[in-house]
Amino acid sequence: MRGEEDLFSQIQKAPVKGFLDPEEGKCLYRLAQAASRLGPCLEIGSYCGKSALYLGFGCRKNKGILFSIDHHRGSEEQQPGEAYFDPELLDDKTGKIDTFPHFRHTLEMFDLLDTVVPIVSSSATVARLWHTPLSLVFIDGSHTFESAWQDYRLWSPHIVQGGYLLFHDIFLDPSQGGQAPYEVYKRAAATGEFLVEPMTKTLGVLKKLTPSYAGKGDK
Ligand code: MG
Repeated sequence: MRGEEDLFSQIQKAPVKGFLDPEEGKCLYRLAQAASRLGPCLEIGSYCGKSALYLGFGCRKNKGILFSIDHHRGSEEQQPGEAYFDPELLDDKTGKIDTFPHFRHTLEMFDLLDTVVPIVSSSATVARLWHTPLSLVFIDGSHTFESAWQDYRLWSPHIVQGGYLLFHDIFLDPSQGGQAPYEVYKRAAATGEFLVEPMTKTLGVLKKLTPSYAGKGDK
């Protein structure tokens, strides 16, 4: 559809920092569009908002909502002196990384504040009292095994039957990148709770076959 191609090209041309391949973005858009009929979508790892644009516009098709969680202090590899440090993201007053102004600017630039709800927090804190069933969970937060595993354990039970669990940065070849997301993805797939769908570049796609735990009390 012409309108969608125009949207994708606007997103790709926009000055939004991020590490998302355009093909992965289009896949996120398509899955959010399909899933958001079933309930809200949620991403962990907003950064500067590139993936939130694709997911958010997919949600907007159904007047849906994307919750986007990030503490906005940058992940381990984005700190000063580390491989993915970007001095433009440093807050001069505090000397800390602060990606939230960039994230909000991205949402304002694309007029998505009626669709994307930023949550400035660690995902574990938000999860403590979360009870809303979700149609899609996109895990792209800290890439240590402990964090990725925790995000999977905390959030996947909330996904409704027919919804999606997505992982970014799945590298089948260890020389291409860290293996933690891939390890968690493999463990999730091995539970039998998901249908393994084809990957798009480094985006792993699992479709939930079992109901959410929401409404059934604590896990
Ligand atoms: Mg990523």
